[in-house]
Parts: sequence; C-alpha cells; structure tokens
Amino acid sequence: EARLRRKLLDLHEAATSFYEEQLRGPEGAIAREYLAGRGLDQKGLEKFRIGYSPDSFNALRDRLSSMADAETLRASGLFSQKEHEDGTLGHVYDRFRKRVMFPICNESGRVIAFTARTLETGDKAGAKYINSPETPLYTKGQVLFNLDKARTAIRQTEFALLVEGQMDCISVFLRGIQNVIATSGTAFTEHQVNLLRRHTSNVAVNFDPDAAGANAAEKSISLLTEEGFTIKIVTLEDGLDPDRFIRERGVEAYVAAIRGARRQSDYLIERARQMFPGATGDQKVKAMNYLLPHIKRIPEALARGQFAHDAAQK
Ligand code: ATP
Ligand code: MN
Ligand code: MN
Ligand code: MN
Repeated sequence: EARLRRKLLDLHEAATSFYEEQLRGPEGAIAREYLAGRGLDQKGLEKFRIGYSPDSFNALRDRLSSMADAETLRASGLFSQKEHEDGTLGHVYDRFRKRVMFPICNESGRVIAFTARTLETGDKAGAKYINSPETPLYTKGQVLFNLDKARTAIRQTEFALLVEGQMDCISVFLRGIQNVIATSGTAFTEHQVNLLRRHTSNVAVNFDPDAAGANAAEKSISLLTEEGFTIKIVTLEDGLDPDRFIRERGVEAYVAAIRGARRQSDYLIERARQMFPGATGDQKVKAMNYLLPHIKRIPEALARGQFAHDAAQK
C-alpha cells in the first residue's frame, strides 16, 4: 500500500539521520575510530551516510515513536519485539545496537533497509553483519547495493564491477572506481539481473578469493551467462578481498587486476584443474563433467564451441 510505503520511507530517512548524528556524537567515538582505521574519511562517511546505532534498546524508538503508531514501527523492520508467553506482543525495541550502520538504498537513492556491522571481535561478536528483515520496502535479493550511485558510471564504462561486500563496494567506489555494485554476500539473483540489464550486459565479477566467494562467483556466472551477459572474472592475489587489495596495493594495481580479468572459460578451466589435479583419466573425466554444464549454458554457438575446444585441450 502506497501510504504505508511512504511512511516507511520517512522512518528510514529519520533513522538514517539519527544514526549519522550518533556517529558524530560522543557515543560514536568507538565507531569513528573503527571506520578511520578502515580508511574511511569524513567525505566517504557522508557520501554513504554511514552511521552508528548506540548501545541502547530504545534510543531509535524514542526518536521515531512520535512519527508512527506501533504497528507501523513494527513493519519498518527497524525494531524487534518480544512475544509474551500468552502470545501477545510486548514493546518494540531497537533491532540494531552498537553497530556501524550502512544504509541500503533503492535505485532512486532512498534508504529502504540497513546492513549493520558489529564492532566486536571474537566470541562476543555474534553475526558480523545483520540486515533488516524483509519489509514492504525491502526484499533481499531484489536490491543491488550501490546501484543508485553506480548507474551513471556503469553506462559510461559499459560494464559493472560486481563485488560481494558493502565495504568492498564503498572502498572501491571512494577511490574513484564508480561502476561498482555489491550483492551483499550472496549469489546473484534473477531479480538483480533484471535491475542490472537496464544499464549494461557486461559484468566483471570480483568475489572474495575464499571458498564462499568462489561458490557465489560460480553461481553468479551461471545465472549471468544464461541471461546473456558477457562475464569476466577478476582474481586477486594473496587472498585479499577488493577492499583490502585496493587499500594495500593501491588503485593502479586494482585497475590492472580488472584489466587483466579472465574470460569465464579460462577461469572455469583453471578452477577445474585445481579441483581435479593430476593427469589420470579419472581426473580428466571429473574435470570435464564439472565443465560441461557451464559449456552447455553458453547461448552463442561460436563461444560455446571455443570453450569446449579449450576445455578439451587443457
Ligand atoms: P568486513 O570487511 O567488514 O569484515 P566483508 O565484506 O569482507 O566484511 P565477508 O566475510 O567477506 O565480509 O562476507 C561478504 C559479505 O557477506 C558481507 O559484506 C556481508 O554482506 C555478507 N555477510 C557476511 N557475514 C554475514 C552474516 N553473518 N550475516 C549476513 N550477511 C553476512
Ligand atoms: Mn569473504
Ligand atoms: Mn570479504
Ligand atoms: Mn572485507
């Protein structure tokens, strides 16, 4: 319903301002220090409207409670609610506490949800990131993080750089590579494909060089191929994710890594060789069985034939 959505957008706007204020205030010192340590300056914080949720169960609630009734507050996803033993619901309380707050925006740049990073390390930390639940504004898998800010550059460069994490995305964007978007830690979905298709059909995939990243990359490659995208794969040395790579090795090294991105056939053949090393017939069969579905998925006959040829040879 349009009225509810408008109200929820207002609440998210107010929450974003509140978290930004908290980051600037005395409680935010711990988060400011953390973010400075990760190389974010004032300009970057403002650009992405990064904030801090204080260590309190009612700070945001007290701020927003005059704006909406309890049911609307509940529908915003910004709050949690206790359920009593008799099934009745208790008071709402702040869902996000003592975390760095990253607004998630829709394509028009309105805040529709948050992802929140803990400041703790070790056992106390709990989940490193927690996200808003699904709400009338936000469905997971239907948003591409940063598409609102990246769309112009995606059209200019004629490709999108796809990374996993919002910190990767922010870090890369603020260093001048502005055609970057993030899946936020999952494989690409069909809905996200359709959002992106309006701007480009070329994607450079740069997921983390760990097992989770490789799996998400493979799934994303499969989907994007089926959907007719041209894909290249960026791989970074020494297990660095894009955020760490660009900070430790510099922008030029990162641009070079993007320029050196491999075709998906080369990437997948290399992956097959790593998964099934050795020259026995058995290993070769396994490698080919791994590659065949990827080969079959290529819509263009010529490219498909080339991939099959390369796979057989290597
Ligand atoms: P950071 O640099 O802040 O440690 P990251 O982006 O490198 O974070 P990864 O562990 O590589 O974090 O995870 C990639 C992405 O997966 C994250 O950016 C986040 O979107 C998502 N993610 C990670 N951990 C969780 C979690 N516990 N719950 C939900 N999403 C998560
Ligand atoms: Mn990772
Ligand atoms: Mn990472
Ligand atoms: Mn990281």
